Amino acid sequence: MTKKQFKAESKRLLEMMINSIYTQKEIFLRELISNASDAIDKMYYKALTDDSITFNKDEYYIKVAADKDNRTLTITDTGIGMTKEELEANLGTIAKSGSLAFKTENESQDGHDIIGQFGVGFYSAFMVADQVTVVTRSIGSEEAFKWQSDGAEGYTIELAEKDSVGTIIELKMKESTEEENYDEFLEEFRLKAIIKKYSDFIRYPIKMDVVER
Ligand code: ADP
Ligand code: MG
Repeated sequence: MTKKQFKAESKRLLEMMINSIYTQKEIFLRELISNASDAIDKMYYKALTDDSITFNKDEYYIKVAADKDNRTLTITDTGIGMTKEELEANLGTIAKSGSLAFKTENESQDGHDIIGQFGVGFYSAFMVADQVTVVTRSIGSEEAFKWQSDGAEGYTIELAEKDSVGTIIELKMKESTEEENYDEFLEEFRLKAIIKKYSDFIRYPIKMDVVER
């Protein structure tokens, strides 16, 4: 499978995230939950204009699941999903979004106050994970696709299996070192606290599932 390169400015942002010295790495979860919520919103608005889609609120939720043995954190949503082309366009390029504002207006400044204020977007996952895998199926599509990246070298996209429409984002968490603790992001109490702090206003249920050793 060929590895595709990130667009130049995406690559710069990604590198900033990978090498982040920012202490509030916890905001990656805010970003991923906000994307999940946006994806469910898109489904809601689509249902308003498309009679073939019914929006039954009970079916729409976000799930945060930690697996301590495998050191993975998974954020699942039942939102609108992405086609192969959308995966390519949305996760291979930073086109618009808060991310760009953050990058261009503040790149010469110290990132400390800034990251907290701006939406830094999907790539913030690389502050805590050394591999990110996205499995997604778009509304109206029978096919699902898997996007995977180990960081700045690029990403791959391949066909995948997924029974239902929506997106699963799996983060393979970085190993903790003496300076940095990533294990905390696999702890239920810590995840709950982060969600309470940043995602309290999210209109869809956020479910939690933590697998212990
Ligand atoms: P922003 O949310 O500001 O647009 P992000 O970097 O957070 O920027 O996300 C980039 C894009 O990737 C989103 O605009 C969206 O199109 C797509 N995306 C990210 N996460 C999801 C998701 N869970 N479901 C569907 N699309 C997503
Ligand atoms: Mg976002």
